[in-house]
Amino acid sequence: MNIELKVHSNEDLEVPPEGEVTHKAAPPRKEAIIAPEELPKRKLALIIQDDNDIYFGDDQSAPTFMSVIKDMGYDVKFEKANETIYTTWKRYDVVVWSCGDDYSAINAPISRQMLVEYVTKGGRLILESGNIAAWNKEFGGATILNLRFRQNVLYATKNWVYHDVGDLTLKTEHPIATIPNALPETIEFTPTKPGDRSGDANAVRILSDLNGDNHVPGATGIYNWSYVAYEGRLVNESVTSKSYGLIASESEENNGGRIVYFAFDIDDIDSPDIQRKLIQNSVNWLREEETISDEGMHMRLCNMPKVPERVLPKGIEATVARLIRMLDKKWVNGTELTYCFLNQPSNFAGSDEQKKVVRDGFNVWKSHGIGLKFGEVSNPSDAMVRIGFKRGDGTWSYVGRDLLDVGPDERTMNFGWDLIREDPRGIDTSTHEIGHTMGFPHEHQNPKSGIEWNEDAVYDWASSTQGWDRDTTYWNIIRKIEPDDVEGSSWDLDSIMHYPFKAGLINKPDKYKTQDLIPAAGISERDITWARTFYPPIENDYEELKIDRLVPLSLSPGEQKDFLLVLEDDSCTRTYNMATVGKSDTVMVLFEEKNGKRHQLAANDDSAEDYNAHISWELTKGKKYILSIRLYHEWVKGETTVKLW
Ligand SMILES: [Zn+2]
Repeated sequence: MNIELKVHSNEDLEVPPEGEVTHKAAPPRKEAIIAPEELPKRKLALIIQDDNDIYFGDDQSAPTFMSVIKDMGYDVKFEKANETIYTTWKRYDVVVWSCGDDYSAINAPISRQMLVEYVTKGGRLILESGNIAAWNKEFGGATILNLRFRQNVLYATKNWVYHDVGDLTLKTEHPIATIPNALPETIEFTPTKPGDRSGDANAVRILSDLNGDNHVPGATGIYNWSYVAYEGRLVNESVTSKSYGLIASESEENNGGRIVYFAFDIDDIDSPDIQRKLIQNSVNWLREEETISDEGMHMRLCNMPKVPERVLPKGIEATVARLIRMLDKKWVNGTELTYCFLNQPSNFAGSDEQKKVVRDGFNVWKSHGIGLKFGEVSNPSDAMVRIGFKRGDGTWSYVGRDLLDVGPDERTMNFGWDLIREDPRGIDTSTHEIGHTMGFPHEHQNPKSGIEWNEDAVYDWASSTQGWDRDTTYWNIIRKIEPDDVEGSSWDLDSIMHYPFKAGLINKPDKYKTQDLIPAAGISERDITWARTFYPPIENDYEELKIDRLVPLSLSPGEQKDFLLVLEDDSCTRTYNMATVGKSDTVMVLFEEKNGKRHQLAANDDSAEDYNAHISWELTKGKKYILSIRLYHEWVKGETTVKLW
């Protein structure tokens, strides 16, 4: 058979009527300016069809996913399960594995292999129905691959799976049920052939319930079934209440991978509108879009605990007082700040995703190679920084060495709201609180900022947006704090330690009468400089301190020196003394160094006191001890020495 192709040529195009076009030459054309337009990156979704069942033939699942996700602004690619190329999956923002009502879903081991790899590498997956859970019941332990598929993709137990179910019933609060569409408590559901062991619906039991802990291993049953039956007889309520139709999971072990598991055929939801909304919410949660938005959300502000300000002796020189106030909250460089997430009482406990935001905050500071170290510990009694997530209790941290005055059972830091869904600043909030823990105050309270507040407006604003009383607003905003002026401080309005302020709260500088003051996101250049000034990278070139020899300190105010304590060959384990000699104010910390980490043994701070810093400690020969001394001030420069005896 010949197919005739019609080819258009120029002759086919219409020409204007005769006489309308003159013979005069047209003026030269101006060159068009093509602005280099930045195209928004298109979002991509891959839909994989795994439905080879020719007997039922009613399945429209893959086209349903395709149409809804396209309408969300995604470019959608469609592939068949036996033809998909796994190495291309990482290009997509979302992958949908759609089985519809197929009774032989995910039958090929290669399919299971791909899904396991994808989710453990942090993939974002919607897995739809099929007879997956029933298959899983029979084979989900027979091989390592099948076990991994059951535990890492489905998060399901090996219990019997029922197929005869009622409507979907909301069980657990979850963004998939609310954002951006509020889904009904009951989603009407009609399987094509109830209880026929096809992929119409499964009642899945999940590992979280088995372990009795909703955070282990990370799956949430969002909707379960209004009833579950077997051959016309109802199943026990205790089983029904833990048999789910809609399951979501995310896992840190899986690199933040997220999965939404529809244990039913999406087409069997009665209302096409609800089908659509459920898919939208699921994709939205997988991509975490619109969950991070400050629309209609108050900017929430850190509220530092009020601690009594240190009273210095009368008559102390102003410069000395300033040096002491500037330095006395800072840690001795090289200190390892151990931190712990509290689990008790239960309202202090935070979820894995919240903890991750805080760990990421520590990593922000860590990434700049500072000499101050952070280490997570599991036992609160080993932790200097004790972190809670008590809701409604504000977000705060004590400042620097003030932490040492906090009782061993108390928090030193709290996050009072959801850092992901209720805080547009997220990681900046955790980085800010850790900045306090490191000893940094609020930058907007720096007297060098030159800020003059419209105080009445500030008190009103903080009261209406944060619910703060006047004392709290004074403590966190209006009060001026002695600046860190080792290097001559200026105002850094992009500091991570600076609040945002809306127009009209600041009288001076003038422009903030009409303009919002919004610090840039993230940690600023000066924050990094400051952190590295107080906590420079540790170089481990210690000066040696030998018994009975005076070593000059030779430091400028704010500087620190680390001494390696050297016990002579004939010396033994006994109590040794170490002290400064000369008229000066210092803070002295004794560490034992093990495996490159410093453990603080003792500390003494003689600032504004009449005595000199002095530690007595039993030293054991063979162990490595470091004595760190930071100078506040000395009366005669170069006069102070340090001695071990
Ligand atoms: Zn703060």
